[in-house]
Amino acid sequence: VPPTIELASRHFGQRKKIGVLTSGGDAPGMNACVRAVVRYGITKGCDIFAIYEGYQGLVDGGSFIKKMEWKDVRGWLAVGGTSIGTARCMPFKTREGRLQAAQNLISNGIDALIVCGGDGSLTGADVFRSEWPGLLKELKENGRVSQEECDKFQHLTIVGLVGSIDNDMSSTDITIGAVTSLHRICESVDSISSTALSHSRAFVVEVMGRHCGWLALMAGIATGADFVFIPERPPSEDDWEQVMCDVAQRHRHLGKRKTVIIVAEGAIDKNLNAIKADYIKDILTDKLGLDTRVTTLGHTQRGGSPAAYDRILATIQSVEAVEAVLRATPDSPSPLIGTSNNKITCGPLMKAVELTHAVAEAISQKNFARAMELRDPQFADEYDSYIASTIIDDQTMRLPEHQQMRIAILHVGAPAGGMNAATRTIVRYALNRGHTPLGVFNGFPGLLRGTIEELTWLSVDGWTSRGGSELGTNRSQPDVDMGMVAYQLQKHSIQGLILIGGFEAYSALLSLEKARDKYPSLRIPLCQIPATISNNVPGTDFSLGTDTSLNAIVDSCDAIVQSARSSRRRVFVVEVQGGKTGYLAVEAGLATGANTIYIPEEGISLARLQADVQHLIALYNDDDEEKSEGRIILRTESVSKTYTTDVICNILQDEGHNIFDSRTAVLGHIQQGGTPSPMDRIRATRLAVKSVEFVELHASAAFTEAHENGKCQPIELTHAKESAAVIGIMGTDVKFTPIEDLLRETDMKNRKSKKAWWYEHRPLVDLLSGRGLFASRE
Ligand code: ATP
Repeated sequence: VPPTIELASRHFGQRKKIGVLTSGGDAPGMNACVRAVVRYGITKGCDIFAIYEGYQGLVDGGSFIKKMEWKDVRGWLAVGGTSIGTARCMPFKTREGRLQAAQNLISNGIDALIVCGGDGSLTGADVFRSEWPGLLKELKENGRVSQEECDKFQHLTIVGLVGSIDNDMSSTDITIGAVTSLHRICESVDSISSTALSHSRAFVVEVMGRHCGWLALMAGIATGADFVFIPERPPSEDDWEQVMCDVAQRHRHLGKRKTVIIVAEGAIDKNLNAIKADYIKDILTDKLGLDTRVTTLGHTQRGGSPAAYDRILATIQSVEAVEAVLRATPDSPSPLIGTSNNKITCGPLMKAVELTHAVAEAISQKNFARAMELRDPQFADEYDSYIASTIIDDQTMRLPEHQQMRIAILHVGAPAGGMNAATRTIVRYALNRGHTPLGVFNGFPGLLRGTIEELTWLSVDGWTSRGGSELGTNRSQPDVDMGMVAYQLQKHSIQGLILIGGFEAYSALLSLEKARDKYPSLRIPLCQIPATISNNVPGTDFSLGTDTSLNAIVDSCDAIVQSARSSRRRVFVVEVQGGKTGYLAVEAGLATGANTIYIPEEGISLARLQADVQHLIALYNDDDEEKSEGRIILRTESVSKTYTTDVICNILQDEGHNIFDSRTAVLGHIQQGGTPSPMDRIRATRLAVKSVEFVELHASAAFTEAHENGKCQPIELTHAKESAAVIGIMGTDVKFTPIEDLLRETDMKNRKSKKAWWYEHRPLVDLLSGRGLFASRE
């Protein structure tokens, strides 16, 4: 039985009236915010008012303040920008403007505001709230509100949501819209890369970010750019122009035909002089003679349908925003809803705004270390990973000869977005450290045959943006011939093995670890970078490939919904993958606004199907005859042998009578995605650097001992349980967990982790489709 969220009682008592507005620059996901505030607010017994055109609508009042109904926000998840409009409003910056805004709120009976915008909008919101008692008094004195109204509207509740493509707000790891913007940037840079490669050109790409280099840095990582310039970390050298040219030159000498440099709008040198794209172009042209072009991406970065990540983030944060309104007391400071360590947070809004301003201040005082510190810890980590895997021939990174190793990389299981990106970064970082990276082709069968080759810096060029598995991957396990696996590892003097894959890789790591007792050549650091669209590997919140897959599902579902809408009154049963895990269905269900989902954690029963048919009938009966909706249901393929996708579709078809009809859509391998998403590429890069560090860490004691005793490198490096581990993303950290310790949280039978942080999103899928609400109206 799916878990449920408590609906408001039928006798709502005093209904809370909440206004929602979007302000400042538009950001993809703002519509998802409004949708979730409206729908969740309604289920909680509130009246929700959309305030059109940001603060301008609040000042102007009248038709700019509109009560929203459930159906008003239908289809908004997939729409970019903000459908209720946004504006930069000068009058709201004046007291007179805010006085008028206060009067408009009171006349509409609104006593709570949810504001989605950047730091300016949120500062405005807080000013408004702090002035509220004074505004109220003045309105009363001028006879613009009655005593009764004055008594009733003593307190204004404000809750902030950060909608900003720059990811420039402190106190939250990520802002709504930033990931979609990164998608647009990466698509552009990927296209530019093709032409740069064809003509052997250099491109300088300017991206948004006046005080924040998040977009520039992440785009640099995700596209494998040669150099990035960001405001928080200006180049430390006086002659940075020469350093940049040296890097580009070395990459060219290795055979690279393209040079891509990404510059944030607000990039500066260490003396705070702006670094502009045209200046970089001139340097590359003059010093290196490169045919260089400048591309300023401009407003394309704002546009388009939100990525899966932003739809989910906006939805769960907005639900929390409504909860925060309902929890608020007159004394509690205005909260800001954020995200930290993969959890939704609710902290003081003004502190976040102050911290955000502190970054700009630190930069203006040339305190760049402080500016980096004020960003989330992941940012500095990502920056280091980028440098470590991009700038070659940095002698400071190179290990002494006796610690240089032969590290093999092997892909296991089904392809997943980010496998190639991870391999590429392992190779480049390993080379920078003085190691020899080796690619094992075609998984364990390849290892058994000894298909192992050294990978060079150039051989992995361009792999960051490639989907699938360039090394080749399959489901075979090492235990078919563990003796041969051990033999080949010894023959090729492999001193560290990195597996990239899903649950098959996890099982393989377990077998290798167990076989260490028998085979000394397996007593080397062994690790797994989780990569599977199912997200079922223990020891990580996210596997590589999950984000790519979610975006592939969301894109397909958007197209299916469009078809269903055109046909009117049609329900699609969409089959998604996920093994025995409902992760993809839950997250895609939230991102697409699915009517319901069927997942292995819950199974399907006749009673459940019957309730779902009733719900659909209730919804369709409530639809306007001429504007009836298409709807989708997501079904994880392994959920039931009896209630197959076809069976469910047929049941819906029959039971829907002439109220709605039904079709199936099986997404199949489309879900592995084509080009990996930026998030998967970035995660891959970070995990890849950590995996090499892991291998070094667990080999160093044996190397040091041998070196001190004047011996050559040993075959056996380690037998410690910590040296066979899964490298996972836990919140904002990367953690190594010994596979032996992970067994406790592994459901071997169902091939998944017993922990499922995402399951708490599950009830929202049904709730936001009107479950309970419409049924109760019948
Ligand atoms: P972006 O990150 O896209 O710039 P933002 O929210 O920071 O978004 P701003 O233009 O700074 O964008 O602010 C949006 C609106 O918020 C302003 O037009 C104004 O109406 C209001 N606002 C900003 N700062 C204040 C303030 N100090 N007092 C009152 N209102 C403000």
